[in-house]
Amino acid sequence: MSLPGIPSLEGTYPSTMDPYPYEAKEFNRIYPFYENLRQKRLTATKCNACGHISWPPRVVCPECNSDNLGWTDLGSKGKARTITEEFAGVPLGWETPLIHALIDLGGGHKIFSRIVNCKPGELKEGDELQLVVYDIPPMLIEKREGMIESPRVFFAFEPVKKAGK
Ligand SMILES: [Zn+2]
Repeated sequence: MSLPGIPSLEGTYPSTMDPYPYEAKEFNRIYPFYENLRQKRLTATKCNACGHISWPPRVVCPECNSDNLGWTDLGSKGKARTITEEFAGVPLGWETPLIHALIDLGGGHKIFSRIVNCKPGELKEGDELQLVVYDIPPMLIEKREGMIESPRVFFAFEPVKKAGK
């Protein structure tokens, strides 16, 4: 369902779940996150001064305030730790339930993500999940040459299908 002016874009992406809607380099200091995502790499910032890894990515290290940050891969597979199926209060234009999980990516990294390609009740704690990267509607941005469409991507996780299922 498409609602002009309302950020429930074709049921794939709510702006409320994306803290950095402008992915273009001109507007966003964490743009490498999206460039990495396009290569199917989920990355976080890693402080070159103290080694602290930040998720979501940052422009300044919350531990030592250094802005000398690099990028580190979080991996593209993990295990579901806690699962929620949201039936009420789902953003306008979305079908219920909206499934989310806290995912253990290994190496001490845990992230909260939307789960797609999954029926309600299907996902269990401990199930394997894998990264999915998909295109979302472009953002119109103003450049010297005029308004241009800036392509965008976003991510979710999906269950790893077991053989024979
Ligand atoms: Zn630091």
